[in-house]
Amino acid sequence: MPLIKKLDPKVSRLIAAGEVIERPASALKELLENSLDAGATAVSVEITGAGKKSLRVSDNGKGMDPEDCRLALERHATSKIDEIEDLSSLGTYGFRGEALYAIAAISRLSLQSAVEGAANGWRISAEGGSLGDSQPAAPARGTTIEIRDLFFNTPARLKFLKSDAYEKSALLAVFEEAALANPTVRWTYKSEGRTVLQLPPEKPLPPGEGFSKRLAAIWGHELSVGLLPLTLERPGVKFWMFASPPGKLNASRNFQAWFINRRPITSRVLQQALYRAYREHRTSERHPVCAAFLELPPSAFDVNVHPGKREVRFKSERELFEMVESLLYGALAKSKQPATLTVSPRAESLFQERSPRYDAGHSAAAQALPLESRPAEAFETLSDGPLWFTPPYRYLGQIEKSYLVFECSGGVFILDQHAAAERILFERYAAELEIGSVAVQQLMLPLPVELPASRLARILDRAPQLARLGFSIAPYGKTTLHILTAPALLNAGELKETVLRLLDSVESPAKTLADMRRHALSTIACKAAVKAHDATTAEGALRLLEDLKDCRDGSSCPHGRRAMLALNRDELARRFQRPGAP
Ligand code: ADP
Ligand code: MG
Repeated sequence: MPLIKKLDPKVSRLIAAGEVIERPASALKELLENSLDAGATAVSVEITGAGKKSLRVSDNGKGMDPEDCRLALERHATSKIDEIEDLSSLGTYGFRGEALYAIAAISRLSLQSAVEGAANGWRISAEGGSLGDSQPAAPARGTTIEIRDLFFNTPARLKFLKSDAYEKSALLAVFEEAALANPTVRWTYKSEGRTVLQLPPEKPLPPGEGFSKRLAAIWGHELSVGLLPLTLERPGVKFWMFASPPGKLNASRNFQAWFINRRPITSRVLQQALYRAYREHRTSERHPVCAAFLELPPSAFDVNVHPGKREVRFKSERELFEMVESLLYGALAKSKQPATLTVSPRAESLFQERSPRYDAGHSAAAQALPLESRPAEAFETLSDGPLWFTPPYRYLGQIEKSYLVFECSGGVFILDQHAAAERILFERYAAELEIGSVAVQQLMLPLPVELPASRLARILDRAPQLARLGFSIAPYGKTTLHILTAPALLNAGELKETVLRLLDSVESPAKTLADMRRHALSTIACKAAVKAHDATTAEGALRLLEDLKDCRDGSSCPHGRRAMLALNRDELARRFQRPGAP
């Protein structure tokens, strides 16, 4: 008997569906793309049960006639492609003709649609892929697709989903991206019976007020106001972007969006170009905010590399890198001028004089992309540490506004004031965390943090863990988070910055409390100590030394940088080549 059997078509259909639709958010993405492909100018979304119970998208697009309503649910049925050649010249989001088929296979779906001027519309439902009869329905132009009980017949897939908060956040993130990419469309988003986002249509592209307003509605005003508008047009390429001016970089790296022909994408090359352009304007902790739109002929890039259609490959990566990098680099250099900057094609040569090297390897990205701080555990201790803490000490003074010099036990040692302060705060906070009671300060006024609704949902899900780190948070409206308390040892002036960095780190559901603690520790110690560069009194210097003495590892700052240097009696003798020196 042969071992290999052909799969039952029902089974292979479920497998194929699983590849296209991973979670409710992937179904939503497909439905939104279909609505946009149908030319909708208003799209509304309604979700219950985090998209698992029901997910409904209504649009006012061109609609379908009764025959198309049935065809739409069949495999490889699409109105968007006829010939294989079409693949390379496609201007629509969809083309596989697979999404509705896949969704219908793993849900209870109903589709209602009407074309302009039809006497009535049509409604058809399907369950686990079997189509029911069509029935007449109201003749309102457009399409409504409702998906109920997604994954009802694929329990394994259902189990694989994450918390409701995570799935809701993923759904909203898909919606936010579509809304950013299509500012002229009116969008409404309801979740569990409540309106979360309601976005009026904005003025058409190219860039201007309209997009800014949409950006502010999604990313918040604080981030979106004052971004530099840039545009560039070349044969076959239109590019425009909003990007941080040099003084307005952000502690979060989550506000960077790229779109190609209105499709949200990620691209290593574009990200490298972005960070490279900012290289003179940023420290490793600050990130540019950017929303960038590229219009390219479909044949210039390939979105087919990934089934999720996100990571894009370009035919001419190098040109694109140089275009984006030099446009942005030049604009940043000039941004002191108050006028908004528009680069005409003629001005290009100006930027071309400086030809940035595109690094085909990834070293540029490695430099540009923020590195996680080293884990706190990885420090070496100075083997002869304790010797240097033997009193009496004498404070000799501060040099370079950064180092404190002491004489002690016949030698000299030098503290890096900033590193020492960081280490002390780090260990205090670590000790508080260990005993599970972090001293908190109640903020006089709640500190508002504006966030996209999708991120807010995900962060609120982590509220209990954040509370254990000393931060209590509460939602304030749909896109603002209030910070109510913070660890007592945190400097008020640095609070916002610290919170933004911390929030960036807590969103991943895989983050354990231990990971969050470690990250909070190094972020907070660093921020809390940042003011340590002030001139120090002898008293303050000695206190710092005493406190450092109590530390488990006083020899380095929490990032592993050295906190102290010592020259003991023997070492001094050896350096001065004294007779009898060891
Ligand atoms: P694709 O988008 O790849 O063509 P889908 O399975 O997503 O495949 O959709 C199949 C077809 O159904 C589309 O090509 C389109 O003709 C039609 N369709 C789907 N959704 C809509 C909609 N909201 N409005 C009008 N037509 C739609
Ligand atoms: Mg589609």
